Amino acid sequence: MESSGVDADVVIAGAGPTGLMLACELRLAGADVLIVERLAGRTGESRAGGMHSRTLEVLDQRGILDRFLAIGDAQPVGHFSGLYLEFDESESRHPYPLMILQADIERLLEEWAVELGVRFQWSAEVTGIAQDDSGVSVELGTAPAATRTVRARYLVGCDGGRSAVRKLSGIDFPGTPATMTALIGDVELPELTEDYVWVRRCPTGDWSAIAFEPGWYRVIASEYDRVAGRDEPVTFEQLRASLIRLAGTDFGMTGPRWVSRFSDAARQAAQYRAGRVLLAGDAAHIHFPAGGQGLNMGVQDAVNLGWKLAAVVTGRAPESLLDTYHSERHPVGEQVLHNTRAQSALARPGPHTDALRDVFSTLMESDDVNRRLRGMLTALTVRYPVDGDHPLAGRRVPDADLKTAEGDTCVYELLHAARPVLVTLNGITEVAAAADGWADRVELVDATSEDDYWFVPDLDEIPAPAALLIRPDGHVAWAAADGDPIDRPALRAALTTWLGPARQP
Ligand SMILES: Cc1cc2nc3c(=O)[nH]c(=O)nc-3n(C[C@H](O)[C@H](O)[C@H](O)COP(=O)(O)OP(=O)(O)OC[C@H]3O[C@@H](n4cnc5c(N)ncnc54)[C@H](O)[C@@H]3O)c2cc1C
Repeated sequence: MESSGVDADVVIAGAGPTGLMLACELRLAGADVLIVERLAGRTGESRAGGMHSRTLEVLDQRGILDRFLAIGDAQPVGHFSGLYLEFDESESRHPYPLMILQADIERLLEEWAVELGVRFQWSAEVTGIAQDDSGVSVELGTAPAATRTVRARYLVGCDGGRSAVRKLSGIDFPGTPATMTALIGDVELPELTEDYVWVRRCPTGDWSAIAFEPGWYRVIASEYDRVAGRDEPVTFEQLRASLIRLAGTDFGMTGPRWVSRFSDAARQAAQYRAGRVLLAGDAAHIHFPAGGQGLNMGVQDAVNLGWKLAAVVTGRAPESLLDTYHSERHPVGEQVLHNTRAQSALARPGPHTDALRDVFSTLMESDDVNRRLRGMLTALTVRYPVDGDHPLAGRRVPDADLKTAEGDTCVYELLHAARPVLVTLNGITEVAAAADGWADRVELVDATSEDDYWFVPDLDEIPAPAALLIRPDGHVAWAAADGDPIDRPALRAALTTWLGPARQP
């Protein structure tokens, strides 16, 4: 135990993508973090196989995207329930889904976490929680060994869909049950002649087979006429039998590296926070994996929560800041559950759905429809309920090119240190004076914009602002339009809301 009486400012349960990203965000913002993970080490298994534009952007905001681009494969199109979606280059510097296995994402995030000084305890399963006014005691069990307890100011459950932290803290998980079963496996298919079989629809479901790595296929066999029991074991033979039922052959399937199961069950935690316990990632929401949004949403939960929780545990901001985590991220989760329910409805077999898919794919030829669906899946159009009527308020800041006295830069480079940034553009200096009382907590940058207009995915082009306060997660907390007088009280209110009260310089 440390002298302060806690083992860490924050204990995170689960070293999946969400827990790892959260740990890094907390460390960058100065919090001490311990990850406790039930497993003894990495399994090398991959459920997710890709990342979307906004996730690529948040990694870019931290200066670590190159590590992922070096091993990932940019895809020309995305999909909504298996129907192709086009991407648009003006919306992001990364207008593509990046095909990259979850195991590689976890490995790279873990390497970064180690560089940042995150501590890990493996073979440490959360089995009990007791919270009081000053912290949380977390009981760890590694059957059959005796249990031990670690103490933290806050505990975050990033422990997946069956989250023990969620159950132990009494948070409800309402939603809709499974109506189908999909089996998934990484296997060899010597008799399949194509590298890529995209969603092949059949009378009772569909199947696909995609060569993620040379010689290895990811096979998904979805059947809509049965729902597997929650604890029923998953076997290679079940996957083979399911593929034979759907495709009429198993293509000589051999050598399973990994088999698993998923469904269209969709549930969301009623509260993302119960006192000193918070939930993020699959612990807070589960849904049909169509469109590949789950890992992305977990990483983005982490980026929303990390800087807020670090500001609270290091005494820079009041505890009430944590409530904005639920109010901002719960609606995003709701929206994803909604669109994945729509995707699972569109995937059902039968002539009625075939007709619906025909109609839907014709609609998707319209730019507006394509853009709307793309915004949902990429999360580029997420807007948080932030005060102010500037079009950027609450939206993710575009990665505009800037010039400063030090040279050329861009907005995301300013966010590498994960600190709030107050950018004054086109020579506006009175903004800096208004932010005097926050000089210890905000980075002031005087710059000019290379472009007169900035592109915002759901708005098209807007005039470059005169000044903007950017939160560490890359969302705009306050902005002033070029030519308008600077609303100093509004700027000070935004600084107070997001950074805490002013202090004497
Ligand atoms: C078939 C399939 C394909 C998918 N494809 C995509 C995709 O392309 N894109 C995408 O974005 N998402 C995809 N997803 C979803 C994605 O895999 C999940 O959303 C993601 O893994 C969630 O990350 P997480 O860190 O929140 O939880 P997890 O990855 O589940 O990690 C939870 C961690 O907590 C640990 N743990 C559990 N209980 C405890 C405990 N009591 N104490 C301590 N540790 C514990 C676990 O061992 C695990 O390491 C897919 C899912 C499936 C099923």
